[in-house]
Amino acid sequence: MPAYTTDAFVLRRLHYGETDNILTLYARDRGRFSAIAKGARKAISRLSGATEVLTLTRFGLASGRSLEIVTQVEVQDSFPNLRHDLLRLAHGLYLADLVDHSTEEHAPNPLLFDLLHAGLTLLQSVTPPELVARWFEVQLLRDLGYAPNLYECAVCHAPVPGPFGPDERFALSAALGGALCPRHARPASHDDHSGLSYEALALLQTLDAPEQGTGETLEHLALPNAKGLGEARLALRRSLRFRLERDLKSLEFLDSLRPV
Ligand SMILES: [Zn+2]
Repeated sequence: MPAYTTDAFVLRRLHYGETDNILTLYARDRGRFSAIAKGARKAISRLSGATEVLTLTRFGLASGRSLEIVTQVEVQDSFPNLRHDLLRLAHGLYLADLVDHSTEEHAPNPLLFDLLHAGLTLLQSVTPPELVARWFEVQLLRDLGYAPNLYECAVCHAPVPGPFGPDERFALSAALGGALCPRHARPASHDDHSGLSYEALALLQTLDAPEQGTGETLEHLALPNAKGLGEARLALRRSLRFRLERDLKSLEFLDSLRPV
């Protein structure tokens, strides 16, 4: 049985049999793959903490017939501040879900691994946590090769906001992969057009700026009001749904925590 070591995030964990867990792992050098943690649900198991979802663990693994087998674990980062804040935790699960569903098995993507690491680290402290999720979505779309063009209208190529003032309404089209100027934004009559206020568009542009690559200055961003944040959320969600061709389960949980 060939054995090796790799650092991986636990994206998902499923009960299997009496005491085992099947883990979905995401490793920097191996991408996404599944492994079995035998006996991890026994009360005395040394595997249980290190195989919690959203933990970064150094795994010793052996190649089994159909699944990798966990032989050793050493926690690298457990992101403790996510564990006692339900809203932060729910956002963390959403990031893990996005990585799970936007990747192929055994397709390493070090940029995405680093993005997840940065996202979970930022989620421990940035307020509001949803700002980290918006940042992550923008970076993820870029990483997948689907970065929307947020600087000119996808129909007429006019610069946005360009000459349009703060009272104008813009939009993001998931299908066209870009922003729409006030002349071409028709969110009321067109399902694919997600309406954006001037401030919501500015937030998306800021999150997309090269200096936001690491997210280090997220904490200091000027935020739109709650309505603008909601518009940015819906626009990015629709863009991701269009690209991933699915809704994510973790979103239902997140939405259930949001005040109506
Ligand atoms: Zn236009």
